[in-house]
Amino acid sequence: MNCTLCPRRCGALRTADAGQGFCQLPETILIARIQPHLWEEPPISGTRGTGAVFFSGCTLRCAYCQNGDISHRNAGRPFTPQELSDSLRRLVDAGMHTISFITATPYIHQILAALELYRPPVPLVWNTSGYETVETLRLLEGVIDVYLPDLKHRSEAMGRLCAKAPDYFERASSAICEMVRQTGTPVYGADGIMQRGTLIRHLILPGLTSESIQLLDWVAETLPGTPVSLMRQYIPMNGVAIRGLDRPITEREYRRVRDHMLTLDLPGYLQEPESASTDFVPLFCRDESYI
Ligand code: SF4
Repeated sequence: MNCTLCPRRCGALRTADAGQGFCQLPETILIARIQPHLWEEPPISGTRGTGAVFFSGCTLRCAYCQNGDISHRNAGRPFTPQELSDSLRRLVDAGMHTISFITATPYIHQILAALELYRPPVPLVWNTSGYETVETLRLLEGVIDVYLPDLKHRSEAMGRLCAKAPDYFERASSAICEMVRQTGTPVYGADGIMQRGTLIRHLILPGLTSESIQLLDWVAETLPGTPVSLMRQYIPMNGVAIRGLDRPITEREYRRVRDHMLTLDLPGYLQEPESASTDFVPLFCRDESYI
């Protein structure tokens, strides 16, 4: 295939074995981990977990990514749509509240083929960097129940510096509006699990609280009622060499952004301080990484 699935629109050839686009991904599905996962927000993980499928590769490739082995170096094992659907069934049999497809965009056609073989009877979650095209998201309309997009950078300068994507905000803001159009405002089950809706994640970066505040303002003005998960887990990883991103955020920086979110009266979630630890990075590509 010649791929134009994400905003990079490389048009690059992706064969079964190799890919020549920005993401360097082949057409074959690569998965780094497929297991129950307990550390997402409460309406996604609940008490029993979400069945998390960590796909290899990423269309954004942030310099500071905490999962660099899979996002930058594409570590993973090949799966057919049949094998993916079999694993989804095992996750449902294990009692998962939801199924989460994580950085899955380059494999969208193969995932839709797997879902033709087996449609899990629980909400399907699309966990994404937010760097998506509206056209590609439309392929998911009526299939995905819950969108879990990041909203990362406001300025072109930071999008360019961190991810070679100066158009990040332009693309992500359009994509998130499309997600909300598809799902409407959140609907929760009696157990508190989100059955339908969009939950925006924002990770506070050191020295960039002004960008965080601008992004929260955009959500409040453009998509009122859409919940935000405010994340404080940033730690320098993946050998990040960008000046200023070589430290965790301070308590003062966190409080500045959190207080602004509370002032806006945005619904959502605040992350625990203990989450800023490498202990929360799952193990990838081991035998026990696959259900
Ligand atoms: S998914 Fe990969 S190959 Fe396709 S357009 Fe995006 S970066 Fe390029």
